[in-house]
Amino acid sequence: MHNKSQAQISRRTMLKGLAAGAALPLTGCSRNPAAPQLQAPFVPGKSLPWINWGKNHSCYPAQRLAPRNEAQLLEGLVNAKGTVRAVGSSHAFSALVPTDDTLLTTDYLSGLISHDAEKQQAQVWGGTRLHNLGPLLESVGLATVNLPDMDYPSLAGAIATSTHGTGKNFGSLSTQVAGLTLATLDGRLLDVSADRHADIFKAACTHLGALGIVTRVNLQCQPAYQLTEVSQVEPLEQMLAELDQRMAQNRNFELFALPYSPLGISVTTNEASAGDANQGEDDPGALNQLRQVFESVSWLPGVGESLYAWLLEKAFGGNPPVIRSGASYRVLAHARTTRFCEMEYSIPVEAGPACLREVLATIQKRRLPACFPIEYRHVKGDDIMLSMYQGRDSAVLSIHQFGDLDYRPFFAEIEPIFHRYDGRPHWGKIHTLQAPQLAALYPKHWQDFLALRESLDPSGKLLNTHLQQVLGVIS
Ligand SMILES: Cc1cc2nc3c(=O)[nH]c(=O)nc-3n(C[C@H](O)[C@H](O)[C@H](O)COP(=O)(O)OP(=O)(O)OC[C@H]3O[C@@H](n4cnc5c(N)ncnc54)[C@H](O)[C@@H]3O)c2cc1C
Repeated sequence: MHNKSQAQISRRTMLKGLAAGAALPLTGCSRNPAAPQLQAPFVPGKSLPWINWGKNHSCYPAQRLAPRNEAQLLEGLVNAKGTVRAVGSSHAFSALVPTDDTLLTTDYLSGLISHDAEKQQAQVWGGTRLHNLGPLLESVGLATVNLPDMDYPSLAGAIATSTHGTGKNFGSLSTQVAGLTLATLDGRLLDVSADRHADIFKAACTHLGALGIVTRVNLQCQPAYQLTEVSQVEPLEQMLAELDQRMAQNRNFELFALPYSPLGISVTTNEASAGDANQGEDDPGALNQLRQVFESVSWLPGVGESLYAWLLEKAFGGNPPVIRSGASYRVLAHARTTRFCEMEYSIPVEAGPACLREVLATIQKRRLPACFPIEYRHVKGDDIMLSMYQGRDSAVLSIHQFGDLDYRPFFAEIEPIFHRYDGRPHWGKIHTLQAPQLAALYPKHWQDFLALRESLDPSGKLLNTHLQQVLGVIS
């Protein structure tokens, strides 16, 4: 009889073995020619380049500002020439950040400012990275209500794009904001909340870096808590058949669909019970092995894709779950060590399974070179002006491509499917929509956001080319 952790190791070993064995005779047979990496070299005499995590955007800012306090920040903001863009941890895949004029980081504005134990609120500097936020809040007995599935972004940067995790009862991180401080272009520090400048607050919770610089954030938290996450390979159709139930019965639930395979991975998270223990380990490197197997066999005429599905079944079938238990902020976040580019759309929650099936069927039918798991999450609706979840509970589908491959042909095949499902693109991820289409997706508040933006930044100093295009503002 084998114990569970041995079985876990054997699953990983098997995938590695398959990858190594399958790759050997077939190296170079990929159908997928690697796209050249974006070049942003350091050129002596030129300013230092900036490049985002996904390596799909870069720029050469003439000036970089890293203020050490709000007074310095205001002075820099008001006096800066040309376009000013704030940068957090450069994790957005869309071109929200690039400017060749002034790049302003709030890296020095990081840490816990104060907390209110009774209200369970904490005031935090906007530049605080999410991975620092967890321990800081824990030190005063608090925790965020939910988190995205990784913790690299800054708090202000995450709020900018309504960064989210999963869970039927949880909105994005933007919904956890009780108030924030905006450094404005006319040199003010504006405190906004549901009670003060409520209209600006409603816009600033998904601000796109277009309203001012966020210096402080007051977060609505909850008492610190422990979670246990169970990740398990299962038949995808079984998960979809039980989706409503699983979303309702668990604190957090999401799934990953594996293209060309009837299998998927469920990730189920609940409050920890006494005695919960870790089992196996989260293995972000497994993505590379998956790719190696896919590229080695999928091209085989007539049999490649079924052979791939069969190999996955052999590698994964019947293995025990991976279990991670501990502080909420550690369990909700995962390491992301494989570089990729990502497109993500939110659609009305009821349409989620049909949309996912259509995406998978399209990949299979058109034999698209895509083996990166497709992430499927739920986010609760809100009433933040430009939140992707404004006015509707949403199913969220994320499509990825490996960072050294050209994502464009694959994403171009899939994006029209999301449009048919009334999808709203994630502001921080790749999409091709422009202002007219986006305006139609936000009928309630689009004009309100534009009017507020203009009142705070009449000369468009905070708008780079991407923002001008997606907001439809000519400055
Ligand atoms: C590996 C990876 C995993 C991801 N996982 C998720 C996920 O699970 N869920 C999800 O929703 N998204 C996810 N994303 C997307 C990403 O986290 C978001 O788009 C987020 O906005 C990035 O935050 P950042 O701090 O890196 O900001 P940046 O990318 O640096 O900037 C994003 C925006 O914030 C603005 N900004 C930053 N700081 C300030 C400030 N102080 N004041 C005003 N504006 C500011 C910038 O101007 C820009 O408009 C992921 C991205 C990567 C690379």
